[in-house]
Amino acid sequence: MAANYKALTEDTAMEYVKKNLDIFSEEAVLRCKEIGDGNLNLVFRVWEEISSKSIILKQALPYARIVGEAMPVTLDRARIESEALMLQGELCPALTPKVYRFDRDLYLTVMEDLSDHIILRKGLIEGKEYPNFAENIGEFMAYTLFFTSDLGMDQVRKKQLQKKFINPELCKITEDLVFSEPYFDAAGNKIEPHLLDRVEENWKNKDLIKEVAILKEGFMTKAQALIHGDLHTGSIFVTEKSTKVIDPEFAFYGPMGFDIGAIIGNFILNYAAQPAYMEKDQQKLQHYRSYLLESIRKIWQEFYKEFIELWEIHVKAPIESSNLYKEVYMRNLFEDTLGYAGCKMIRRIYGLAGVADIDNIKELVKRSRAQMLALDIGEMLILKRREIKDIDEVIEKIKSFD
Ligand code: ADP
Ligand code: MG
Ligand code: MG
Ligand code: MG
Repeated sequence: MAANYKALTEDTAMEYVKKNLDIFSEEAVLRCKEIGDGNLNLVFRVWEEISSKSIILKQALPYARIVGEAMPVTLDRARIESEALMLQGELCPALTPKVYRFDRDLYLTVMEDLSDHIILRKGLIEGKEYPNFAENIGEFMAYTLFFTSDLGMDQVRKKQLQKKFINPELCKITEDLVFSEPYFDAAGNKIEPHLLDRVEENWKNKDLIKEVAILKEGFMTKAQALIHGDLHTGSIFVTEKSTKVIDPEFAFYGPMGFDIGAIIGNFILNYAAQPAYMEKDQQKLQHYRSYLLESIRKIWQEFYKEFIELWEIHVKAPIESSNLYKEVYMRNLFEDTLGYAGCKMIRRIYGLAGVADIDNIKELVKRSRAQMLALDIGEMLILKRREIKDIDEVIEKIKSFD
């Protein structure tokens, strides 16, 4: 660990702000609260009541909070996160929090306070709709993925960039938690007793395990673009009008479909959970589930449209301008997206870390229904991804489970 590293407290976070940043006046009376809810980091909000100015400090801890000091995790991820945020900020300034500085001793990122937004996962659990979200996230993914891929940047520069985003320890977390542990009786799994039979089916399902192994290989070897790496609905801040993507500490050069699949898989998790939340109003439930499915359709379509547009404008090389190649590329990307969506769903049902959409369902029967549905849809996406024609068929297949 770096010699000058020390985990901040609410008091030392305020001292840090006073000493190092010229955001507040000398006499300002500051307040501070640690608001982190993730598994790996501290997040401090520092504000001044009268001026209503505020700032966020995000500091990496040298271990995973979820497991405790027994599980050390490299602090370098804070550098990766701040550099990814800055790069994403150049490509999509409206969709990324502003980064004011990165402190290399404290592994601390100082950034824009987005407290006027809410975490998308929370909004979806509350049944809120975000009319601009699909378009915004489609654009975010198209720009960040295209312009860090071999299509959108110089090949030599791409490999130099790749070097800055070697992220072995965080990749290993994903390799273990998403692609390995859910498929055998690993100690980290959190299997509720009522799920055990269903989970054991997964462990015995040779086709499923083979397909997950293929997707895992893609995650480990396909250096297609600088991906966010953790793009679930808990890594996105929203208002009705605005979208901001946070928390790219898992960023590395990987398969684009892992990001697109993360978003889509998390929308489906919410879709699976909603009957438990809106049970009393079937009309509202139907309306909201249609909204979720429409969002999934639009996320893919917006991404596709923007990505192809960038391809047509920016790619002049004769080989990569081939329309047939474009078709194969987008088809592979579609299949990756579905496969990774499925993997992201399954691990959230009985792996180490759950999601609030499912875990907040208090009644066992209702929770179980949501969990089973998520497991079935996840498995279908992984196994059928090569046969599914298009995003419309994905939606039809999801609906057919009811
Ligand atoms: P972790 O990597 O530990 O998951 P996140 O970056 O996701 O950390 O942040 C955890 C929580 O801290 C978020 O869910 C949010 O509530 C809060 N937070 C993070 N960044 C900001 C920000 N820029 N503005 C306001 N709140 C933030
Ligand atoms: Mg997070
Ligand atoms: Mg647009
Ligand atoms: Mg994180």
